[in-house]
Amino acid sequence: MQVAQNIDAAGQFFSFEFFPPKDKSTWPRFMERAERLAGLNPQFASVTYGAGGTSHDNSLEICSMLKKDMGIDILAHLTCVGASEQSIDGFVSSLMECGVSDILALGGDGVADAEAKERSRFQHASDLVEYVDGKFSDVGIAVAGYPGGHPESPSLIHDLEFHNAKLAKGADFTMTQLFFDNRLYFDYVERLAGLGIKRPVIPGVLPIQSLSSLRRIMSLCGAGIPGGLYCGVEKAFEKGGDEAVMEFGFNFARKQISDLLDKGVPGVHIYSLNRAAMCERLIADLKGDGYFS
Ligand code: FAD
Repeated sequence: MQVAQNIDAAGQFFSFEFFPPKDKSTWPRFMERAERLAGLNPQFASVTYGAGGTSHDNSLEICSMLKKDMGIDILAHLTCVGASEQSIDGFVSSLMECGVSDILALGGDGVADAEAKERSRFQHASDLVEYVDGKFSDVGIAVAGYPGGHPESPSLIHDLEFHNAKLAKGADFTMTQLFFDNRLYFDYVERLAGLGIKRPVIPGVLPIQSLSSLRRIMSLCGAGIPGGLYCGVEKAFEKGGDEAVMEFGFNFARKQISDLLDKGVPGVHIYSLNRAAMCERLIADLKGDGYFS
């Protein structure tokens, strides 16, 4: 339980999300970038988990390499899609053998066999939290939170109640979906506090690195983007292509993160998109401004 245990004592921190590239021939390039980001000394890194066997093996292998070769504490994502007690036991035990003892328990994207899903005891992230907490007492557990509401939930109130259930079943902290308007995050934290939830809520921040990646991510995750911001990205692209978008995205992310830190968040989790340059520049500038000291 390194990640969950350390975030309270860490002081304001930054951490990164990585996703395991599907094509193994690109792993050397991925590892080179991961090594650059590890050199910035993040509090931890999270590693996403896709649907299907190969993807699970890739997640495990990447978690192991980041932990063993680079010494980064790891938060391994794990989802309900296609999950059975046996598959969860296998995945969590293998993580622990590599020295990884924290998971992000998720409902999961991706289509599992509909009948198998109906039979499965793992319908929601809360089922995963309950099972892992009961079986692996040394494992730290994070859950996902949605400042703008989960796209499938009928109302914010439903979402908050289900979120509360995940925490009541044993989750240690919340990691949020990306958002661009910090008011959404602070409002969300206030609503959770209203339900008596005091556990850390780590904001997830996506630095915008290109128009195409922004479009792809927004269509996948279902989060919202303020109209003015989206127009700003499009205008930057029309004027100067991807380079101008990078500059625009850098300035926006720097302001967004410094505002979050100024207002007292525990730390920021940065969706790196497996790229190093933007994150290196952001962390260097924020450190230059006295953050993360
Ligand atoms: P849940 O908590 O199960 O919630 C899903 C929906 O069901 C919500 O609308 C919720 O309100 C509702 N709900 C919850 N409990 C109940 C209940 N008991 N009865 C009825 N309704 C309920 N996906 C991946 O596949 N791999 C990843 O690695 C991954 N990483 C992510 C990381 C972060 C930080 C975030 C925010 C999301 C990530 N996702 C990932 C996407 C995530 O799996 C999807 O958003 C998924 O649709 C919901 O996951 P959840 O954990 O919030 O699920």
